[in-house]
Amino acid sequence: MKTIKTIENIINFGADLLVEKAIVSDFRTAVFEVKLLLSFILGKDLSYLIVNKSDVIDNDKFILFNQLLNRRLLGEPVYKIIGKKPFYKYEFITGNSVLDPRSDTEVLIESVLKYFSKDSVLDILEFGVGSGCILLSVLNDLNNSFGIGIDISSDALDIANKNLEIFSLFDRCNFICSSWNDFVCDKKFDVIISNPPYIKSSYIDNLDIEVRKFDPIIALDGGADGLNCYREIADISGKFLKNNGHIFLEIGIDQENDVCSIFNDAGFKIVDMVKDLSGVIRVLHFIYI
Ligand code: GLN
Repeated sequence: MKTIKTIENIINFGADLLVEKAIVSDFRTAVFEVKLLLSFILGKDLSYLIVNKSDVIDNDKFILFNQLLNRRLLGEPVYKIIGKKPFYKYEFITGNSVLDPRSDTEVLIESVLKYFSKDSVLDILEFGVGSGCILLSVLNDLNNSFGIGIDISSDALDIANKNLEIFSLFDRCNFICSSWNDFVCDKKFDVIISNPPYIKSSYIDNLDIEVRKFDPIIALDGGADGLNCYREIADISGKFLKNNGHIFLEIGIDQENDVCSIFNDAGFKIVDMVKDLSGVIRVLHFIYI
């Protein structure tokens, strides 16, 4: 970069590069991403960058900016680089051992919160915790409810526990490292929630580089037909749920018929199918009778 290193010039320089190297398709998004990197480096919020756009950046900060920009140019998602991502009404720590929280999944939170009143006293079980963004968002709004989250990855749970600490929900939430199948518990739950891996194994290579290279495959790969985890959840959920207990699941595009028949066969009845903002059926709500 040859021009004087003001905040404004650095933003334009970085955004041009992201578009030129086809990492980001439009300039507006590229500007936003570069602003996130710069505000992370400066420890200031985004509005600071606008108000102080003519400030010249120290050389050591510019070197750091270039290092982070290079990571982005290699496909690493901006939120993985800055280590946190907005989700629902909150912000969560993220990292390479967890799926980045996605806006699609906000439909799962909204479905649960729409169905139960805020003062409900529920025991909630989550299969596949990742960053913890689902269970923590739900528990933070249902503030008389309790949650247990199961994940096989201790690296993922390190991140989930950091988020638990930020939410200060120790007295109502517990993350346990176990395979779903090996988990044993005397208690029965009112609600099970999950966003399990649901991508077909053969499709993984077609995912965007941000997902394929930087999200853990274990959180994405749902087996040959993408439905392995739904079969497992349908198999084991009966023993954890109270009668008339509920299950809320995120699903992939066009999986609703297959997932419904898996859960029907296991004694569940469909209550609701909820679409995301692009009209895709994203959440299935079943009741256990
Ligand atoms: N929605 C994610 C994706 O398309 C996949 C999440 C999952 O498998 N549960 O990248």
